[in-house]
Amino acid sequence: MDILIHGASGLLAGSVAVHASQARGVKRKLWILFTGLLAGVLPDLDVLSMWSGFDGTFGKWFGLQESGREIFRGKHWYSHHGFSHSIVCAALLSVSILGIRQMVFRNNKGTARMYALTFFGGYMAHLLGDLPTPPGAWGGIRLFYPLDQYVGGFAWTFWWNNYDVFLLILSGIAVNLLLLVVRKRLTVLQNWKWAGAVVALTFALCTFQLATRGEPFIYERHTGQYANQEQRSLDIQRSILGERLYKAMWWFDQRVPLNF
Ligand SMILES: [Zn+2]
Repeated sequence: MDILIHGASGLLAGSVAVHASQARGVKRKLWILFTGLLAGVLPDLDVLSMWSGFDGTFGKWFGLQESGREIFRGKHWYSHHGFSHSIVCAALLSVSILGIRQMVFRNNKGTARMYALTFFGGYMAHLLGDLPTPPGAWGGIRLFYPLDQYVGGFAWTFWWNNYDVFLLILSGIAVNLLLLVVRKRLTVLQNWKWAGAVVALTFALCTFQLATRGEPFIYERHTGQYANQEQRSLDIQRSILGERLYKAMWWFDQRVPLNF
């Protein structure tokens, strides 16, 4: 899945945390949302091996025998979709957030724990988002590291052009932020479970959209199939969103300097 969807799914996790924490003050709320966003994009930091300067820096420092490109497509623990895409990594980083929040930011235990849980939720949202994409060179993600098995690679959808999913997640975030505003007047909305229900509904709708795209998105590298699948994913978006919304999303896509 693309980095914009990952970031948005992290934000969605953060939006529940804002409700659950009963945080007061805009600054605190923004910090929680930022924690979710950060956790949502962080697992893909392993694409660093595709950076043009990787071989000249990290490759040299660590005396790596393989090029960054080979590492990226490889099955090392530090390859793409390896350790960084595991529950163990999510848990270790969350514990680090707990420590940083307590020691650097001097948060009390409850607040620090809330940040750690937000981070864990945002990180797991990223891993979930990577399950329905094509198997790629890895056959999924190494979710249960240190086990060797890769899971996911369902090929329900293409790597990007999932505009419908992006819009659904944005809607979920918008509803939760709106609930935050109106809950001051309606005490019944103060329960964070409403925000949790919004996330559950968003998750169900996204899953439905992804699971009903039709034929699996399987392709052989270095053949024309890759471009065909990419075009097919765009055609599917056009039929789901309608011409107008599709064109608006396409316009936005062309202005984002990342795969979206
Ligand atoms: Zn990823």
